Amino acid sequence: MVQRTNLLPEVKAHYGDLKNFIGGEWRAPSGAAWLEDPNPATGKTIARVPLSTKDDVRVAVDAAMGAWEEWRETPPISRARHFFVLRDLMEQHFEELARVLTQDMGKAIDEARGEVRRAIENVEVAAGIPSLMMGYTLEDGAAAGIDEEVLYQPLGVFAGISPFNFPIMVQSWFWPYAVATGNCWIAKPSEQDPIVQQVLFELIEKAGFPPGVVNLIHGARETSEALIDHPDVKGISFVGSTPVAKAVYARAAANGKRVQCGGGAKNLLVVLPDAKLDQAVPNMISSCYGTAGQRCLAGSAVVALGEAHEAARRKFTAAASSLKLGYGLDETVQMGPVVSRASKERVLGIVDKGEEEGATVALDGRGAKVPDYPGFFVGPTVLDAVAPDMAVAREEIFGPVVTFLDADDLDGAIELINRSPFGNAASIYTSSGKAAREFRYRVRAGNIGINIGVAAPMAYFPFSGMKNSFFGDLHPQGRDAIRFFTESKVVITRWL
Ligand code: NAD
Repeated sequence: MVQRTNLLPEVKAHYGDLKNFIGGEWRAPSGAAWLEDPNPATGKTIARVPLSTKDDVRVAVDAAMGAWEEWRETPPISRARHFFVLRDLMEQHFEELARVLTQDMGKAIDEARGEVRRAIENVEVAAGIPSLMMGYTLEDGAAAGIDEEVLYQPLGVFAGISPFNFPIMVQSWFWPYAVATGNCWIAKPSEQDPIVQQVLFELIEKAGFPPGVVNLIHGARETSEALIDHPDVKGISFVGSTPVAKAVYARAAANGKRVQCGGGAKNLLVVLPDAKLDQAVPNMISSCYGTAGQRCLAGSAVVALGEAHEAARRKFTAAASSLKLGYGLDETVQMGPVVSRASKERVLGIVDKGEEEGATVALDGRGAKVPDYPGFFVGPTVLDAVAPDMAVAREEIFGPVVTFLDADDLDGAIELINRSPFGNAASIYTSSGKAAREFRYRVRAGNIGINIGVAAPMAYFPFSGMKNSFFGDLHPQGRDAIRFFTESKVVITRWL
């Protein structure tokens, strides 16, 4: 069981110079370039992150290739056993993983616990690999006496490049499935908050995966590009912002690789006049301000129809203004800082621009301060009277800023969603089954919430996304992940 105290002490004040985990060993990078990794609540550096070079990538790919033949010949049930061991280790270190995550990324501790839980669930699903990976057979499938079957086989080495906002969960959408299906893996976490991956890899090491099967390499753009360009990397799993997702998709495809790329988002919450506002508003608040608005499934705009507009805006703004901002390790805190000083400045700039373009600032978080914590805090912010062509309505904000937009009716709200270049998520609050079905049927977004503001798929469902929120053919997680990491081989047999 999770142990709770009032104020969680930091796991460590400083994690030192992070290392890569390659071929079963912790190795210093070959280059001399490093980034400072700050705790977003205190602003103090808590680790140094190496910018691994092409040479480091080459060594990692060689180690993964060297481990691959034996790993693919390891029966699926034996591969699965490593995941059972890892799962137990993650449970034993559950609180540590969550606390490190909060310290490095900033989200409130309960959200960090939720994220670690999601990572464990992906490990649990991947442990079912013997059933998940089965092919299929048809007797007499080709002709009388000639049978036909499909086998799923691993391809070799895959790499995963992930964003800062879910530093343990997003990698877990990929790697457990890649490795369980018999591939080897190289993780390249975000350079902004990679410490929780370091802790996870200490557990991966203990779980006894053979050296070279699961590898960790730190770095930023150039490290990612070296992975995408390496001829022995067969596929790339990526999640991050839309411009980078597009670039990674194009580069990996040009290199003839498999590729799945999750991109950015701008998710609308639609409130119909028959919505139960007392239930809807707390749910919308947690969608919009959870992880300080830095979730790809976060509600970032509210379209409340007819008489719901005024009541929703009033109740929503009142609830947002009472959120407790602070250091996420404090159990009473409901919203932490944004991830970096640059991110804070970007978010404040977008709010300024919204105001210049004519939006009304109904709740202003720009001057928010937290006693004793000089980090990167932005308070909950609400912008009203926002027109669809304003930058605040079009661009991904990725901070605790919510815009209220108008539409005449459900058709108008659906049009606003469908016209958006993003298609990650959309939610509707209503008591009408008919309206909810209409919404589900017509909306062009991958993850749909009905009276749910964060439509986060469980590990055994794909994490979907459409338009500029996803580039590729198969989404991460669950069965789609198995297909992404394997190729189908068809065998036709005349039995002699
Ligand atoms: P980002 O695009 O800046 O970085 C993501 C990763 O790409 C990092 O590991 C980074 O080092 C690497 N990278 C940066 N530039 C690169 C380049 N040119 N080529 C190759 N790799 C490069 O994203 P971020 O700021 O870390 O994360 C926030 C973004 O992620 C938001 O836009 C959010 O909506 C999105 N996101 C999407 C989903 C989803 O499922 N669609 C989930 C979580 C986050």
